Amino acid sequence: MTAPEAVAAAVDEQRLWSRHEALARFGATPRGGCNRQALSDEEFAARRQMLEWAAPLGLEAAHDPAGNLFLRLPGREPRLPPVLSGSHLDTQPTGGKYDGIFGVLAALEAAEAMRAAGFVPRRPIDTVVWTNEEGSRFAPGMTGSEAFTGMRTLEQVSAVQDAAGITVGSELARLRAAFPEVPTRPLGFPVAAFVEAHIEQGPALEAAGLPIGIVTGIQGKKTYRVRVVGEEAHAGTTPRHARRDALRTAAAIIDALYAAVVDADDTVRFTVGRLVVLPNAPSVVPGEAVLSIDLRHPEAAPLDEFGRIVTETCRRLASPCEVAVEPLIDAPPLAFPEEMRALIRNAADRLRLPYMDLPSPAGHDARNLHYVCPTGMVFVPCAKGISHNEAEAATPTDLAAGARVLAAVLAELATRD
Ligand SMILES: [Zn+2]
Repeated sequence: MTAPEAVAAAVDEQRLWSRHEALARFGATPRGGCNRQALSDEEFAARRQMLEWAAPLGLEAAHDPAGNLFLRLPGREPRLPPVLSGSHLDTQPTGGKYDGIFGVLAALEAAEAMRAAGFVPRRPIDTVVWTNEEGSRFAPGMTGSEAFTGMRTLEQVSAVQDAAGITVGSELARLRAAFPEVPTRPLGFPVAAFVEAHIEQGPALEAAGLPIGIVTGIQGKKTYRVRVVGEEAHAGTTPRHARRDALRTAAAIIDALYAAVVDADDTVRFTVGRLVVLPNAPSVVPGEAVLSIDLRHPEAAPLDEFGRIVTETCRRLASPCEVAVEPLIDAPPLAFPEEMRALIRNAADRLRLPYMDLPSPAGHDARNLHYVCPTGMVFVPCAKGISHNEAEAATPTDLAAGARVLAAVLAELATRD
């Protein structure tokens, strides 16, 4: 048996499962899910539980200024850049027990399995908890991985406020005060590789009956805010020719876009999820309508083409109102390096765990790490593909299979030059 295989064999399915159950108590909802907002007391409690599990393993804990938590398994050559693995502990308000949590616990399980197998890596291996991935309490999300990789500055992320006006910065100060025993590590450092394990959040693996997904990449995303400005008028006295009805124009734009943003293989994702009408009164012709557009595709060229259709359609159908299209997010599609995918594939092969390649429709912290180090992702199935939902479910066997593949891959990466 090779060292990665011995490490994989030491993954303990029952321990991994019971830790998911244990973390689910922090922010548990009546319907069996989790509401654990970023940098809340509940999330602090989950971090404390992670520290309690890490301590007997001799993992070295550190926070960085963005609140990312690192639990380091020391390597034989401590000066080498570490291998990182992890995800997030925050959830949506009606979230589940596995989104993010699995990636953190699988990385911790890999470290525990290495200890159990007597495997000492050459490079350090950090289990990492990224701050505020979900963007639920503090929008936008991916705070920790964006600050770590320099996508946003610490000043930028610190200024973000929640609905109550509390800033990320003040909650980061509260985090430092709550964990005085955890030393601070500088923000951002060289990383040898990053691997994130995650539930699929889609139905493909379950439908195929396969425990392992090798993630080919993350689909691209563009979002827009479209503001339609007309003129408020009396519903009873204003004739049709004199109206500049913002809702009517918005409805025409939405209808046209749903007809235009389509493809033969049903790959593009187009959503108008929000429509705000002013003054939203039954007897007033609407003076203003603001709608949100969320557009996604795994390939750059079609994504750009559909983006062009969005702006062109809004311009074409604006009259008699005025329409302003404000681009918000423009995240291009990305492909993880074939070398990382091959490592994951080889590990699954050696462990006789069947797999398939698949893209990630959702964004993850791995998107940001991809731009600073070789990055890969391992998916495991979740029931019916349901996620961001209290009913999110996964099986102990599938979670353990994912953790085994992850442990073998980390052991391999931590041995290389
Ligand atoms: Zn997640």
